Amino acid sequence: FERLKRSLSKTHESIVGRMDALLLGKKQIDTDTLEELEEILITADIGVKTTVDLVRTLEQRLKRAELQDGAALKQALKEEILVRLEANSAPLVVTDKKPFVILVIGVNGVGKTTTIGKLASRYAGEGKRVLLAAADTFRAAAAEQLETWAGRVGAEIVRHKEGADPSAVVFDACKAAAARGCDVLIIDTAGRMHTKVNLMEEMKKIRRVLTREIPDAPHETLLVLDAATGQNALSQAKLFKEAADVSGVVLTKLDGSAKGGIVVAVSHEYALPIRFIGVGEAVEDLREFDPAQFVEALFQ
Ligand code: GDP
Repeated sequence: FERLKRSLSKTHESIVGRMDALLLGKKQIDTDTLEELEEILITADIGVKTTVDLVRTLEQRLKRAELQDGAALKQALKEEILVRLEANSAPLVVTDKKPFVILVIGVNGVGKTTTIGKLASRYAGEGKRVLLAAADTFRAAAAEQLETWAGRVGAEIVRHKEGADPSAVVFDACKAAAARGCDVLIIDTAGRMHTKVNLMEEMKKIRRVLTREIPDAPHETLLVLDAATGQNALSQAKLFKEAADVSGVVLTKLDGSAKGGIVVAVSHEYALPIRFIGVGEAVEDLREFDPAQFVEALFQ
């Protein structure tokens, strides 16, 4: 918890620090106060839509005379953020499907490969046999990085040479997973800045191969977003959700970023469950997302 709190310290400053400056010692709340709060939330990357929804709810609570002073308003905001996070929260449950297939998507540089390595480590640590598929064949470095992770955490890998057809990698990985009795298959995909059409075409192709081999796969389509990019992460969530059937999100690089409010925006605006958050580069820095713990760490 202390680690999480430290990771969120800049986000805490940008939301709660500024809010405290506005509210501390305030004996009475009026609509001007709420307007200023709205400004703070928007600049703290909570997202316009979610902020408007939050402030509207707070207005109603103010009208019902529930918010007598600054402290009460702060407490109410904390509760309302938690309610919204919990509404869309669910951990990623790896069932006993053999293999359980996780398709990982997201643009380059967001921490996709690192996240796959950390996930592989988590599941291998639980005694599962993990296979990685290096279907990002556009960057040789991506496959190499994935191979290093596989070696480090005791996972297996299927990779082809640079420029190979990603679908062929997926096909081989499915065959290998079945032949070796793997429990979890994690597929890395290309992260070039996609247009929607491009992205849809590529997803269709991978899915076609995948479902031919494993009819109900992927069991999870995990979108990786870099929290430090703030509003960019939000637009990526929109694009990928429309084009790729996202079922869960990982928000990386919350450590050191002041833009952690994006967690609330992604979760609420797009109704996407945040499965994990990344709070550092080490293996243990990928944490299962816990709304109550997150809000607690943020407000402390
Ligand atoms: P990819 O291009 O999406 O595969 O991105 P990488 O996995 O190569 O990650 C890009 C950089 O971000 C690397 O230097 C990672 O160590 C770093 N990174 C990934 N996740 C986190 C995180 O949660 N916190 C921090 N501080 N760095 C991260």
